[in-house]
Amino acid sequence: MAKFIFVTGGVVSSVGKGITTASLGRLLRNRGFTVTVQKLDPYINVDAGTMNPYQHGEVFVTEDGAETDLDLGHYERFIDVNLTRHSSVTTGSVYSEVIAKERKGEYLGGCVQMIPHITNEIKERILRVAVDPPADVVIAEIGGTVGDIEGQIFIEAIRQFRKDAGPGNTLYVHVTLIPEVGPWNELKTKPTQHSVIKLREMGIQPDVLICRSNHPMSEEMRDKLSLFCDVQREAVIESRNADTIYEVPLRYEEMGLADLVVTRLGLARTAPDMAEWQGIVDRIKRPSRRVTVAAVGKYTDNGDAYISIGEALKHGGIANDCHVEIDWVDSEELTEDNCAERLSRADAIVVPGGFGHRGIEGKILAVQYARESRVPYLGLCLGLQMAVIEFARNVCGLKAANSEEMDPATQHPVIHILPEQRNVTDKGASMRLGAYRCQIVGGTLAERLYGDSHVYERHRHRYEVNNDYRDTLNRNGMMCSGISPDYRLVEIIEIPSHPFFIATQFHPEFKSRPNRAHPLFRGLVEAALKAQAVKDQ
Ligand code: GLN
Repeated sequence: MAKFIFVTGGVVSSVGKGITTASLGRLLRNRGFTVTVQKLDPYINVDAGTMNPYQHGEVFVTEDGAETDLDLGHYERFIDVNLTRHSSVTTGSVYSEVIAKERKGEYLGGCVQMIPHITNEIKERILRVAVDPPADVVIAEIGGTVGDIEGQIFIEAIRQFRKDAGPGNTLYVHVTLIPEVGPWNELKTKPTQHSVIKLREMGIQPDVLICRSNHPMSEEMRDKLSLFCDVQREAVIESRNADTIYEVPLRYEEMGLADLVVTRLGLARTAPDMAEWQGIVDRIKRPSRRVTVAAVGKYTDNGDAYISIGEALKHGGIANDCHVEIDWVDSEELTEDNCAERLSRADAIVVPGGFGHRGIEGKILAVQYARESRVPYLGLCLGLQMAVIEFARNVCGLKAANSEEMDPATQHPVIHILPEQRNVTDKGASMRLGAYRCQIVGGTLAERLYGDSHVYERHRHRYEVNNDYRDTLNRNGMMCSGISPDYRLVEIIEIPSHPFFIATQFHPEFKSRPNRAHPLFRGLVEAALKAQAVKDQ
């Protein structure tokens, strides 16, 4: 039977539960265990797909096409696993399932209740993720903060889980904040004590306390937390802010977190293999070069909205022994007059995915600048669509070219709705989602980067390149270098006469890992370094 670790958060949101969960997963994986992770999100949305990335952060997409919380991205990147839709559980999905069963009469006339029906559904999902595929350890992170009304049913479910699975098979980890207060910046344990009181009221006694603080905690503080929260002293773990999130597993290893967890759960104690991870952190902290990449989007003052892109660029940097400085450029601020000046420091340009017409003319200007100034360009989903529109307008002479998404009546719909999307009215889980096979055309930049004749990449879109314009684009110098196996859908485009101009209808950023940078991001950073060398000459 698998072992189950439950991670809760106290005092404030954004306390770092996601990175803690992902880091613990990495440390257990480094000890040879098969680890899987699950996020239990208390919101009523069925999935994250309909949520605004500006408010809620990026929507992460799994191989099997689930639209999930961005924490799944951290889990995949840190643990280097592909998760499935079973790793994402929301209140909305739990209730819809229970209500659907009730409508089918599966409760045999019984009164359907929070306990046991909702809690049973939650517990079944936790058990399911442990067997499909089989895992030695499941780490389940409960979203939100202890004390939130909407999270209570999940806390109740994990309380029951220990009763069902046995204390030796479960572990409760509480991640909390130790704030600094007053003129002397004193660290305070009281909010943590209260958060643990709250957990205890709900029947959970934490086994491990992870204390986020900016300064070292004194021995007295650890003693106090141990006494008041009834947690063994060695299980009060200090977690200071790290220079890079990828350093967090190394810090936790030093603090003995994984050894403690392994011992408590009765797992075999083996020496961890930390070499690869240490190498990643060394490269991040001591790069020999640096480049600037401009990312032109509309949610640029919230790094979480494009978090996988930011991470994939960092991975591209790690692979090239190079620090990547990301300059987030608000596409709404770009005009014909300021675009060249604003982007002049960029060694490469990325246009991320997006929806709706706001800011698209600025993105098109950024593409034009990249194409004309021979600056390396990587377009991601909407970034491909913008590249096609720009090329159609400015090179092929189709001045009215547009996407049907932005102008349904456009004279030249070079980007149009996917046929299977025409009659779709629901917004949730209804796009072209998840991994699809893409054939790579021989002799192209895509082939050089991937080194393969086909790849699987993750999608999330409703629109695509209109095949009626493929010849025109091609004749003018934009070619299709990746295509669906039935030749129907354009998946990658490039401009062979440009040093590095490539765009994808899919989202390569979701598959990039710190130890295995995605080939397109690795290639972009390599091209940025070359562009920089040319500029410096
Ligand atoms: N809005 C575009 C579409 O639906 C692009 C989506 C995206 O960038 N993920 O096709």
